[in-house]
Amino acid sequence: MLGTVEKKFSLQAADRKVEMARSSAIEWSTLSRRTIVFRCLAAVAATLAASIKEAAAKATQAAASYQDTPKDVQRCDNCSLFQPPNSCLLVEGTISPSGWCKFWIKKTS
Ligand code: SF4
Repeated sequence: MLGTVEKKFSLQAADRKVEMARSSAIEWSTLSRRTIVFRCLAAVAATLAASIKEAAAKATQAAASYQDTPKDVQRCDNCSLFQPPNSCLLVEGTISPSGWCKFWIKKTS
């Protein structure tokens, strides 16, 4: 059986829980639909920006098995990813026109 003091504390705790639930509900109801949509879009945009930045990172020369000599007729200057005079869209660092890596793609034009 609870004493008077214990009952009082128990009721006060229950009142605090009810008040917290009410204020939380009020907080949510005061957020407009537009605010919620904007916050969601901002979160999605931040996630996409991080993904794009990560995707834009180039591969290391070691990861691409880059070599500064051609492999048969395959060479950087006939690869569609080569960027004259000495860089590549996919592989980082200085790229020799006569180099090669495992991502070689035949230039179409
Ligand atoms: S072969 Fe192509 S992808 Fe590889 S380093 Fe040379 S230009 Fe870049």
